[in-house]
Amino acid sequence: MTTSRAIWREQLAAGERAALGRGAGVIPEPRPDVLVVGGGIVGVATAVACHEAGLGSVLLIEAGQLGSGATGGAAGLLTPEIREWSDPGPFTDLARASLEHWKDLEVSRPGGVGLIHLDWIGLVPDRESFAPHQQPAVEWLMPDQVHDIVPGLALPMAGAMIRHQARVNPLRAIARLITGLPDVATGVAAISATVRGGRVISVGTSAGGIHPGVVVFATGRPPVLDGLPLDVPSDTVKGHLLVTEPVSVRLPGTVAPVATQLEDGRLLVGGTFDTGDESPSVRPEVIEAILDGLYAALPALRGVAASYQWCCFRPCHPDGHPVIDRVPGVDNAWLTSGHFRTGILMAPVTARALVRWIAAGELPAEAAAWSSTRFADRAHRG
Ligand SMILES: Cc1cc2nc3c(=O)[nH]c(=O)nc-3n(C[C@H](O)[C@H](O)[C@H](O)COP(=O)(O)OP(=O)(O)OC[C@H]3O[C@@H](n4cnc5c(N)ncnc54)[C@H](O)[C@@H]3O)c2cc1C
Repeated sequence: MTTSRAIWREQLAAGERAALGRGAGVIPEPRPDVLVVGGGIVGVATAVACHEAGLGSVLLIEAGQLGSGATGGAAGLLTPEIREWSDPGPFTDLARASLEHWKDLEVSRPGGVGLIHLDWIGLVPDRESFAPHQQPAVEWLMPDQVHDIVPGLALPMAGAMIRHQARVNPLRAIARLITGLPDVATGVAAISATVRGGRVISVGTSAGGIHPGVVVFATGRPPVLDGLPLDVPSDTVKGHLLVTEPVSVRLPGTVAPVATQLEDGRLLVGGTFDTGDESPSVRPEVIEAILDGLYAALPALRGVAASYQWCCFRPCHPDGHPVIDRVPGVDNAWLTSGHFRTGILMAPVTARALVRWIAAGELPAEAAAWSSTRFADRAHRG
Protein backbone atom coordinates (compact mmCIF):
# COMPACT_ATOMS: atom_id res chain seq x y z
CA MET A 1 0.00 0.00 0.00
CA THR A 2 1.23 3.48 -0.82
CA THR A 3 0.91 6.28 1.74
CA SER A 4 0.41 9.74 0.25
CA ARG A 5 2.53 11.65 2.73
CA ALA A 6 6.19 12.05 3.53
CA ILE A 7 7.98 9.27 5.35
CA TRP A 8 9.62 11.60 7.85
CA ARG A 9 6.88 11.65 10.49
CA GLU A 10 6.67 7.84 10.48
CA GLN A 11 10.35 7.65 11.38
CA LEU A 12 9.94 9.73 14.55
CA ALA A 13 9.74 8.46 18.10
CA ALA A 14 6.50 9.34 19.91
CA GLY A 15 8.19 12.15 21.86
CA GLU A 16 9.59 13.69 18.70
CA ARG A 17 6.17 13.56 17.06
CA ALA A 18 4.59 15.24 20.08
CA ALA A 19 7.21 18.00 19.97
CA LEU A 20 5.93 19.10 16.56
CA GLY A 21 2.60 20.11 18.10
CA ARG A 22 3.92 21.80 21.22
CA GLY A 23 1.90 24.58 22.87
CA ALA A 24 -1.14 24.11 20.64
CA GLY A 25 -3.21 27.28 20.45
CA VAL A 26 -1.73 28.98 23.53
CA ILE A 27 0.61 31.97 23.60
CA PRO A 28 2.77 31.44 26.69
CA GLU A 29 4.51 34.85 26.60
CA PRO A 30 2.71 37.78 24.91
CA ARG A 31 5.66 40.17 25.45
CA PRO A 32 8.72 38.27 24.23
CA ASP A 33 12.01 40.02 23.51
CA VAL A 34 12.12 38.10 20.22
CA LEU A 35 9.13 36.76 18.29
CA VAL A 36 9.84 34.31 15.46
CA VAL A 37 6.93 33.74 13.10
CA GLY A 38 7.10 30.43 11.21
CA GLY A 39 7.99 26.97 12.52
CA GLY A 40 9.77 25.50 9.51
CA ILE A 41 13.43 24.58 9.79
CA VAL A 42 14.55 28.18 9.25
CA GLY A 43 12.26 29.63 11.95
CA VAL A 44 13.07 26.87 14.43
CA ALA A 45 16.83 27.19 13.88
CA THR A 46 16.54 30.97 14.24
CA ALA A 47 14.44 30.91 17.39
CA VAL A 48 16.74 28.38 19.05
CA ALA A 49 19.84 30.35 18.03
CA CYS A 50 18.33 33.60 19.43
CA HIS A 51 17.56 31.83 22.70
CA GLU A 52 21.02 30.29 22.96
CA ALA A 53 22.69 33.61 22.13
CA GLY A 54 20.97 35.16 25.14
CA LEU A 55 18.79 37.63 23.24
CA GLY A 56 16.18 37.42 26.01
CA SER A 57 12.85 35.62 25.96
CA VAL A 58 12.07 34.06 22.58
CA LEU A 59 8.62 32.98 21.39
CA LEU A 60 8.10 30.93 18.22
CA ILE A 61 4.64 30.83 16.67
CA GLU A 62 3.59 28.50 13.86
CA ALA A 63 0.24 28.44 12.02
CA GLY A 64 0.13 24.65 11.73
CA GLN A 65 2.43 22.09 13.31
CA LEU A 66 6.17 22.59 13.30
CA GLY A 67 7.54 21.48 9.94
CA SER A 68 4.14 21.46 8.23
CA GLY A 69 5.33 23.68 5.35
CA ALA A 70 8.06 22.96 2.81
CA THR A 71 10.33 21.58 5.52
CA GLY A 72 8.22 18.49 6.18
CA GLY A 73 8.31 17.50 2.51
CA ALA A 74 11.98 18.12 1.74
CA ALA A 75 14.51 15.43 0.90
CA GLY A 76 16.70 16.68 3.73
CA LEU A 77 19.97 16.55 1.82
CA LEU A 78 22.81 18.72 3.12
CA THR A 79 25.05 18.79 0.05
CA PRO A 80 26.71 22.19 -0.28
CA GLU A 81 29.54 21.20 -2.63
CA ILE A 82 27.22 20.63 -5.60
CA ARG A 83 26.07 24.26 -5.35
CA GLU A 84 29.43 25.10 -6.96
CA TRP A 85 27.97 23.98 -10.29
CA SER A 86 24.86 26.16 -10.15
CA ASP A 87 25.11 29.01 -7.64
CA PRO A 88 27.28 32.08 -7.08
CA GLY A 89 30.41 31.68 -4.95
CA PRO A 90 29.10 33.54 -1.88
CA PHE A 91 26.10 31.22 -1.77
CA THR A 92 28.25 28.09 -1.94
CA ASP A 93 30.53 29.48 0.78
CA LEU A 94 27.52 30.07 2.99
CA ALA A 95 26.20 26.60 2.20
CA ARG A 96 29.53 25.02 3.16
CA ALA A 97 29.55 27.00 6.42
CA SER A 98 26.01 25.86 7.12
CA LEU A 99 26.90 22.18 6.78
CA GLU A 100 29.67 22.77 9.31
CA HIS A 101 27.08 24.35 11.63
CA TRP A 102 24.86 21.29 11.17
CA LYS A 103 27.80 19.09 12.15
CA ASP A 104 28.38 21.28 15.23
CA LEU A 105 24.71 20.99 16.18
CA GLU A 106 24.93 17.22 15.86
CA VAL A 107 27.76 16.98 18.37
CA SER A 108 26.81 19.83 20.69
CA ARG A 109 23.18 18.92 21.40
CA PRO A 110 22.23 16.07 23.69
CA GLY A 111 21.09 13.27 21.37
CA GLY A 112 22.18 15.23 18.29
CA VAL A 113 19.87 16.42 15.53
CA GLY A 114 19.77 13.15 13.61
CA LEU A 115 22.52 14.06 11.15
CA ILE A 116 23.50 11.18 8.84
CA HIS A 117 26.83 11.45 7.06
CA LEU A 118 26.89 10.44 3.40
CA ASP A 119 28.93 10.54 0.24
CA TRP A 120 27.32 12.03 -2.87
CA ILE A 121 28.02 10.58 -6.30
CA GLY A 122 26.79 12.38 -9.40
CA LEU A 123 26.52 10.11 -12.44
CA VAL A 124 27.30 11.40 -15.92
CA PRO A 125 27.95 9.69 -19.27
CA ASP A 126 31.37 11.34 -19.31
CA ARG A 127 33.35 13.81 -17.23
CA GLU A 128 32.86 16.71 -19.66
CA SER A 129 29.17 16.76 -18.74
CA PHE A 130 30.05 18.65 -15.57
CA ALA A 131 30.93 22.32 -15.61
CA PRO A 132 34.58 22.80 -16.65
CA HIS A 133 36.02 23.91 -13.32
CA GLN A 134 36.72 21.24 -10.79
CA GLN A 135 36.66 22.14 -7.15
CA PRO A 136 39.04 20.27 -4.85
CA ALA A 137 36.28 18.40 -3.06
CA VAL A 138 35.44 16.29 -6.14
CA GLU A 139 37.01 12.91 -6.84
CA TRP A 140 36.42 11.86 -10.45
CA LEU A 141 35.46 8.24 -10.97
CA MET A 142 35.92 6.27 -14.18
CA PRO A 143 33.03 4.04 -15.31
CA ASP A 144 34.69 0.87 -13.95
CA GLN A 145 35.12 2.55 -10.54
CA VAL A 146 31.46 3.62 -10.57
CA HIS A 147 30.49 0.08 -11.49
CA ASP A 148 32.32 -1.25 -8.41
CA ILE A 149 30.47 1.16 -6.13
CA VAL A 150 27.06 1.11 -7.83
CA PRO A 151 26.68 -2.30 -9.47
CA GLY A 152 23.71 -2.88 -11.74
CA LEU A 153 23.58 0.42 -13.58
CA ALA A 154 21.98 0.01 -17.00
CA LEU A 155 24.63 2.14 -18.71
CA PRO A 156 28.32 2.69 -17.97
CA MET A 157 28.65 6.03 -16.20
CA ALA A 158 31.46 8.23 -14.98
CA GLY A 159 30.98 9.86 -11.63
CA ALA A 160 31.82 12.83 -9.45
CA MET A 161 32.25 11.71 -5.85
CA ILE A 162 31.91 14.27 -3.08
CA ARG A 163 32.60 12.96 0.36
CA HIS A 164 31.52 14.17 3.82
CA GLN A 165 28.09 15.50 2.91
CA ALA A 166 25.03 14.72 5.03
CA ARG A 167 21.30 14.51 5.35
CA VAL A 168 18.64 14.78 8.05
CA ASN A 169 15.08 13.73 8.56
CA PRO A 170 13.88 17.37 8.56
CA LEU A 171 11.15 16.73 11.13
CA ARG A 172 13.51 14.93 13.48
CA ALA A 173 15.94 17.84 13.22
CA ILE A 174 13.13 20.24 14.18
CA ALA A 175 11.95 18.03 17.02
CA ARG A 176 15.48 17.76 18.42
CA LEU A 177 16.26 21.47 18.03
CA ILE A 178 13.02 22.70 19.57
CA THR A 179 13.70 20.96 22.88
CA GLY A 180 16.05 23.88 23.57
CA LEU A 181 13.30 26.51 23.32
CA PRO A 182 10.92 27.13 26.24
CA ASP A 183 8.17 29.12 24.48
CA VAL A 184 6.50 27.62 21.43
CA ALA A 185 2.94 28.04 20.18
CA THR A 186 1.68 25.90 17.31
CA GLY A 187 -1.67 26.41 15.63
CA VAL A 188 -1.19 30.17 16.02
CA ALA A 189 -1.10 32.28 12.84
CA ALA A 190 0.14 35.85 12.60
CA ILE A 191 -2.52 37.86 10.78
CA SER A 192 -1.64 41.52 11.25
CA ALA A 193 1.06 43.87 12.44
CA THR A 194 0.94 47.35 13.89
CA VAL A 195 3.91 49.48 12.86
CA ARG A 196 4.51 52.83 14.55
CA GLY A 197 7.53 55.09 14.27
CA GLY A 198 9.31 52.52 12.11
CA ARG A 199 8.86 49.72 14.64
CA VAL A 200 6.52 46.76 14.91
CA ILE A 201 4.76 47.34 18.21
CA SER A 202 2.36 44.42 18.01
CA VAL A 203 1.55 41.35 15.97
CA GLY A 204 -2.07 40.22 15.85
CA THR A 205 -2.52 36.46 15.81
CA SER A 206 -5.33 33.92 15.74
CA ALA A 207 -4.79 33.52 19.51
CA GLY A 208 -4.45 37.19 20.52
CA GLY A 209 -1.94 40.03 20.34
CA ILE A 210 1.81 39.76 20.88
CA HIS A 211 4.01 42.75 21.76
CA PRO A 212 7.55 41.75 20.83
CA GLY A 213 10.85 43.56 21.17
CA VAL A 214 11.90 42.35 17.74
CA VAL A 215 10.27 40.07 15.16
CA VAL A 216 11.75 37.64 12.66
CA PHE A 217 9.46 36.46 9.88
CA ALA A 218 10.55 33.01 8.68
CA THR A 219 7.33 32.12 6.91
CA GLY A 220 8.69 30.37 3.80
CA ARG A 221 7.42 33.06 1.45
CA PRO A 222 7.34 36.65 2.75
CA PRO A 223 4.33 37.06 5.05
CA VAL A 224 1.25 38.92 3.90
CA LEU A 225 0.00 40.65 7.05
CA ASP A 226 -2.41 43.53 7.41
CA GLY A 227 -0.35 46.57 8.38
CA LEU A 228 3.09 45.20 7.39
CA PRO A 229 4.55 47.09 4.43
CA LEU A 230 6.36 44.34 2.56
CA ASP A 231 6.49 43.84 -1.17
CA VAL A 232 9.03 41.19 -2.15
CA PRO A 233 8.25 39.09 -5.23
CA SER A 234 7.96 35.38 -4.48
CA ASP A 235 6.45 32.19 -5.76
CA THR A 236 6.59 28.43 -5.17
CA VAL A 237 7.86 25.50 -7.21
CA LYS A 238 6.16 22.18 -6.56
CA GLY A 239 8.20 19.01 -6.25
CA HIS A 240 7.31 15.31 -5.93
CA LEU A 241 9.31 12.72 -3.98
CA LEU A 242 8.77 9.06 -3.21
CA VAL A 243 10.24 6.41 -0.94
CA THR A 244 10.26 2.81 -2.14
CA GLU A 245 9.73 -0.34 -0.18
CA PRO A 246 13.01 -1.71 1.25
CA VAL A 247 15.27 -3.02 -1.53
CA SER A 248 18.25 -5.36 -1.53
CA VAL A 249 20.36 -3.05 -3.74
CA ARG A 250 22.92 -1.10 -1.69
CA LEU A 251 23.78 2.44 -2.74
CA PRO A 252 26.63 4.44 -1.22
CA GLY A 253 24.67 7.41 0.18
CA THR A 254 23.24 9.53 -2.62
CA VAL A 255 23.66 8.46 -6.24
CA ALA A 256 22.35 11.43 -8.21
CA PRO A 257 20.05 11.57 -10.01
CA VAL A 258 19.05 8.01 -9.14
CA ALA A 259 18.28 7.80 -5.41
CA THR A 260 19.39 8.20 -1.80
CA GLN A 261 19.32 5.11 0.36
CA LEU A 262 17.61 5.47 3.72
CA GLU A 263 18.45 3.60 6.93
CA ASP A 264 16.20 0.59 6.36
CA GLY A 265 17.14 -0.02 2.72
CA ARG A 266 14.38 2.09 1.21
CA LEU A 267 15.24 4.47 -1.60
CA LEU A 268 14.33 8.16 -1.58
CA VAL A 269 13.78 9.19 -5.19
CA GLY A 270 12.75 12.34 -7.00
CA GLY A 271 12.72 15.96 -6.21
CA THR A 272 10.99 17.02 -9.42
CA PHE A 273 10.56 20.67 -10.42
CA ASP A 274 6.91 20.88 -11.48
CA THR A 275 6.84 24.52 -12.48
CA GLY A 276 3.32 25.84 -12.99
CA ASP A 277 1.62 22.96 -11.12
CA GLU A 278 -0.19 24.57 -8.22
CA SER A 279 -2.34 21.60 -7.22
CA PRO A 280 -1.62 20.38 -3.67
CA SER A 281 -2.26 16.79 -4.83
CA VAL A 282 0.25 14.14 -5.78
CA ARG A 283 0.07 13.48 -9.53
CA PRO A 284 0.22 9.74 -10.28
CA GLU A 285 1.84 10.38 -13.66
CA VAL A 286 4.74 12.22 -12.01
CA ILE A 287 5.22 9.37 -9.52
CA GLU A 288 5.16 6.90 -12.42
CA ALA A 289 7.78 8.93 -14.28
CA ILE A 290 10.03 8.98 -11.18
CA LEU A 291 9.72 5.19 -10.84
CA ASP A 292 10.37 4.71 -14.55
CA GLY A 293 13.58 6.74 -14.21
CA LEU A 294 14.65 4.53 -11.28
CA TYR A 295 13.96 1.30 -13.20
CA ALA A 296 15.79 2.65 -16.26
CA ALA A 297 18.89 3.42 -14.19
CA LEU A 298 18.84 0.21 -12.13
CA PRO A 299 16.88 -2.45 -14.04
CA ALA A 300 17.10 -4.91 -11.12
CA LEU A 301 14.64 -2.63 -9.32
CA ARG A 302 11.90 -3.01 -11.93
CA GLY A 303 8.63 -3.70 -10.11
CA VAL A 304 9.74 -2.15 -6.80
CA ALA A 305 6.82 -0.08 -5.49
CA ALA A 306 6.56 3.30 -3.79
CA SER A 307 5.60 2.99 -0.11
CA TYR A 308 5.39 6.76 0.39
CA GLN A 309 4.75 9.45 -2.19
CA TRP A 310 4.25 13.14 -1.64
CA CYS A 311 4.64 16.62 -3.01
CA CYS A 312 5.52 19.96 -1.48
CA PHE A 313 6.19 23.53 -2.53
CA ARG A 314 9.58 25.22 -2.48
CA PRO A 315 9.26 28.91 -1.56
CA CYS A 316 11.34 31.01 -3.92
CA HIS A 317 12.28 34.48 -5.11
CA PRO A 318 12.79 35.31 -8.80
CA ASP A 319 16.55 34.58 -8.76
CA GLY A 320 16.23 31.35 -6.79
CA HIS A 321 18.17 32.70 -3.81
CA PRO A 322 16.95 33.59 -0.35
CA VAL A 323 16.27 36.88 1.32
CA ILE A 324 17.99 37.49 4.66
CA ASP A 325 17.21 41.09 5.49
CA ARG A 326 15.71 43.65 7.79
CA VAL A 327 12.14 44.46 6.78
CA PRO A 328 12.63 47.67 4.75
CA GLY A 329 11.69 50.73 6.80
CA VAL A 330 11.11 48.76 10.01
CA ASP A 331 13.89 48.86 12.60
CA ASN A 332 12.93 45.87 14.72
CA ALA A 333 11.73 43.35 12.11
CA TRP A 334 13.70 40.87 10.00
CA LEU A 335 12.70 38.62 7.14
CA THR A 336 14.17 35.42 5.79
CA SER A 337 12.34 33.77 2.93
CA GLY A 338 12.59 32.03 -0.43
CA HIS A 339 15.06 29.35 0.60
CA PHE A 340 13.90 27.39 -2.46
CA ARG A 341 15.74 24.05 -2.77
CA THR A 342 18.30 24.45 0.03
CA GLY A 343 16.44 25.74 3.08
CA ILE A 344 17.21 22.69 5.20
CA LEU A 345 20.89 23.05 4.42
CA MET A 346 20.93 26.84 4.91
CA ALA A 347 18.92 27.04 8.14
CA PRO A 348 21.79 27.13 10.68
CA VAL A 349 23.88 29.71 8.82
CA THR A 350 20.81 31.87 8.24
CA ALA A 351 19.94 31.65 11.92
CA ARG A 352 23.43 32.72 12.95
CA ALA A 353 23.46 35.66 10.55
CA LEU A 354 20.14 36.88 11.94
CA VAL A 355 21.28 36.47 15.54
CA ARG A 356 24.42 38.51 14.84
CA TRP A 357 22.40 41.22 13.08
CA ILE A 358 19.82 41.46 15.88
CA ALA A 359 22.46 41.41 18.63
CA ALA A 360 24.88 43.91 17.09
CA GLY A 361 22.41 46.00 15.09
CA GLU A 362 24.73 45.85 12.10
CA LEU A 363 24.42 43.94 8.85
CA PRO A 364 26.69 40.87 9.04
CA ALA A 365 28.88 40.38 5.97
CA GLU A 366 27.35 37.02 5.06
CA ALA A 367 23.85 38.52 4.73
CA ALA A 368 24.85 41.42 2.49
CA ALA A 369 24.18 39.59 -0.79
CA TRP A 370 20.69 38.50 0.24
CA SER A 371 18.92 41.83 0.67
CA SER A 372 15.35 42.14 -0.60
CA THR A 373 16.33 45.41 -2.27
CA ARG A 374 17.93 43.44 -5.12
CA PHE A 375 14.42 42.95 -6.50
CA ALA A 376 13.51 46.63 -6.16
CA ASP A 377 16.65 47.52 -8.13
CA ARG A 378 15.72 45.06 -10.86
CA ALA A 379 12.22 46.58 -11.11
CA HIS A 380 13.68 50.09 -11.41
CA ARG A 381 16.03 49.05 -14.19
CA GLY A 382 12.96 47.64 -15.98
C1 LIG B 1 10.61 18.17 -3.16
C2 LIG B 1 11.51 19.06 -2.32
C3 LIG B 1 12.76 18.59 -1.96
C4 LIG B 1 13.61 19.42 -1.20
N1 LIG B 1 14.81 18.92 -0.82
C5 LIG B 1 15.66 19.69 -0.10
C6 LIG B 1 16.91 19.18 0.30
O1 LIG B 1 17.26 18.03 0.03
N2 LIG B 1 17.75 19.99 1.02
C7 LIG B 1 17.38 21.27 1.35
O2 LIG B 1 18.18 21.97 1.98
N3 LIG B 1 16.19 21.77 0.99
C8 LIG B 1 15.32 21.02 0.27
N4 LIG B 1 14.11 21.51 -0.11
C9 LIG B 1 13.79 22.92 0.20
C10 LIG B 1 13.30 23.09 1.62
O3 LIG B 1 12.17 22.27 1.81
C11 LIG B 1 12.89 24.55 1.85
O4 LIG B 1 13.85 25.44 1.34
C12 LIG B 1 12.79 24.79 3.37
O5 LIG B 1 11.95 23.82 3.95
C13 LIG B 1 12.26 26.17 3.66
O6 LIG B 1 12.12 26.26 5.05
P1 LIG B 1 11.36 27.46 5.73
O7 LIG B 1 11.43 27.27 7.19
O8 LIG B 1 11.87 28.74 5.15
O9 LIG B 1 9.87 27.34 5.16
P2 LIG B 1 8.71 26.37 5.60
O10 LIG B 1 9.17 25.01 5.92
O11 LIG B 1 7.64 26.49 4.55
O12 LIG B 1 8.21 26.99 6.96
C14 LIG B 1 7.49 28.19 7.04
C15 LIG B 1 6.45 27.99 8.12
O13 LIG B 1 5.83 29.24 8.39
C16 LIG B 1 4.50 29.00 8.70
N5 LIG B 1 3.76 30.23 8.48
C17 LIG B 1 3.55 30.88 7.30
N6 LIG B 1 2.84 31.99 7.50
C18 LIG B 1 2.60 32.07 8.83
C19 LIG B 1 1.92 32.99 9.64
N7 LIG B 1 1.32 34.09 9.13
N8 LIG B 1 1.84 32.77 10.98
C20 LIG B 1 2.46 31.67 11.52
N9 LIG B 1 3.11 30.76 10.79
C21 LIG B 1 3.20 30.95 9.47
C22 LIG B 1 4.09 27.87 7.77
O14 LIG B 1 2.97 27.16 8.27
C23 LIG B 1 5.35 27.03 7.71
O15 LIG B 1 5.33 25.94 8.61
C24 LIG B 1 13.21 20.72 -0.82
C25 LIG B 1 11.93 21.16 -1.15
C26 LIG B 1 11.09 20.34 -1.90
C27 LIG B 1 9.71 20.84 -2.22
